[in-house]
Amino acid sequence: MPSNDFVLGLKCRVCGKLYPKAANFYCPDDHGPLEVAYDYERIKPHVSRAKFISRPRNMWRYRELLPLDGEPTVGPQVGGTPLVRADRLADALGVERLWIKNDSVNFPTLSFKDRVVSVALSKAREFGMRMVGCASTGNLANSVAALGASAGLDTVILVPADLEKTKIYGTAVYGAKVVKVSGTYDQVNRLCTQIVMKYGWGFVNVNLRPFYAEGSKTFGFEIAEDLGWRFPQHVVVPMAGGALIGKIHKGFKELQATGIVDQEVTTKMYGAQATGCNPIADCVKTGRERHKPIKTPNTICKSLAIGDPADGYFAARLIRDSGGWAEDATDSEIVDAMLLLAKTEGIFAETAGGATLAVAKKLIESGRIPRHEEIVVCITGNGLKTQDAVFDAIEEPATIKPALMEFEALAGLASRVTEPALV
Ligand SMILES: *Cc1c(COP(=O)(O)O)cnc(C)c1O
Ligand SMILES: [Zn+2]
Repeated sequence: MPSNDFVLGLKCRVCGKLYPKAANFYCPDDHGPLEVAYDYERIKPHVSRAKFISRPRNMWRYRELLPLDGEPTVGPQVGGTPLVRADRLADALGVERLWIKNDSVNFPTLSFKDRVVSVALSKAREFGMRMVGCASTGNLANSVAALGASAGLDTVILVPADLEKTKIYGTAVYGAKVVKVSGTYDQVNRLCTQIVMKYGWGFVNVNLRPFYAEGSKTFGFEIAEDLGWRFPQHVVVPMAGGALIGKIHKGFKELQATGIVDQEVTTKMYGAQATGCNPIADCVKTGRERHKPIKTPNTICKSLAIGDPADGYFAARLIRDSGGWAEDATDSEIVDAMLLLAKTEGIFAETAGGATLAVAKKLIESGRIPRHEEIVVCITGNGLKTQDAVFDAIEEPATIKPALMEFEALAGLASRVTEPALV
């Protein structure tokens, strides 16, 4: 049965009104964002653990819980990234059971954004759209450009002009039309909304956002599957627009609602941001109901630098309702955590990963996350894209002449020059 029979429509997250499944993204009554609504009772007889695991290990094995009408036509290999038991990092943090969900190796552009973009662009094709694009803090730009190219779509991508060079080139290389906008992400996003309203193009995080956001659920499905079809006690998630954290939780709830996991979802959700742009973390910490937008973000963690997050209100509410918490990390704490993750687990995460781990560390140290319980830290992007962040923190390697004596002197082996060779 095609999954379209499982989708009820797009539901307003404020008033609950149901709208047809189209490129709609807000409720005209109250401007609330729309979210894909499913009929779980109807899905239930069509899904099982056996069915999921019989399919290739990628995000589409859970296709009954994704909003496409037909087969995915963009990014059919996305997802299926490892959940890594991180014992060396656990020792360093003084906790017992720790996992890294590692989307820094997601295909094809090394961040979790490939999950959301493959859903959004597959949907754009179902809608017959030819021109697609996005407003981006970096990783989304890379992913829309790469997956758009692979689908033969025309792509236009708008980014804040101060974005890392690697992320700009890593977008233009795919032939996308890249436009640098001198302004903050929020200003870029507003411009994209105007373009969408006037030209009707498929912008993945504007008019395709309800479909886009659903892709993030697969991050949560994979965590539960890899833990042996159960939910962890604590999940620490980076937040930019605030969608991923909510969708991981929605994914857990759906596994429960469809009987795939026979367990209540009691997972506590923790949000991570950079101190230089922490609207959601600040909202949670100060007990405010709605976040205060940050006018001028200032952090090396550009991928999370959204001053006025679209899902900020819902992210803060979920964090509170789940019994979790939010924190932010300074740029130097972010760099330290990037190095800690690299040195203990051999995983080079981007600045967002540094922020997430730094926040996890703070939450453990402050007792918010108990040391003997199960913790999953979500790593969502690759360090090769933000290498500038760690350059200053890494010692420049020594240079020697191509001579054994020089190597031995450098390595402190000078006294052994007279000992017999090993072979
Ligand atoms: C976009 C992004 C996020 C956060 O996603 P939201 O759903 O917007 O909160 C996290 N990590 C990385 C690396 C990202 O690029
Ligand atoms: Zn509404």
